Amino acid sequence: MQPIITAIQYFSEAELRCKGTGIIKLDPRFAESLPKLRESWGKPLSPNSVCRAPSHNKAAGGHPNSLHLTENPKWPTFGTMACDIRWRGWKLEDQQAFAELALEQGWRVGLHDGFCHIDRLLDIAPGAVKVFLYGTYTGPLYPRLTK
Ligand SMILES: [Zn+2]
Repeated sequence: MQPIITAIQYFSEAELRCKGTGIIKLDPRFAESLPKLRESWGKPLSPNSVCRAPSHNKAAGGHPNSLHLTENPKWPTFGTMACDIRWRGWKLEDQQAFAELALEQGWRVGLHDGFCHIDRLLDIAPGAVKVFLYGTYTGPLYPRLTK
């Protein structure tokens, strides 16, 4: 598999770039799935964070095996497979609908008050837990989405 190193449908290079190094390196499974999710959602999505080079992930205090990583020490990825979608200020029903849509399309969902982390771990580890808490989350979708 060849990494995607350019913008993809609906998402600009600026939105995808590592905020530390500027690199764009997307796993092709992620690069195909994200525009599909955006298409089904039918409204703009604003990513807070997509690619993270290892140096930037470390500096930003990211998980050492994070799927945001462009080079992953644990998972057999071909680039970044995660994205944080800003959802602070969304109505709860919209947050729930978005998370449910992502789950239906095979994404794993990490809940945070400010954003919804979505990643493609299930493409490489099918038995993984599908919904988890990602930092500070005080809303009611956990454990609601796990049922
Ligand atoms: Zn994330």
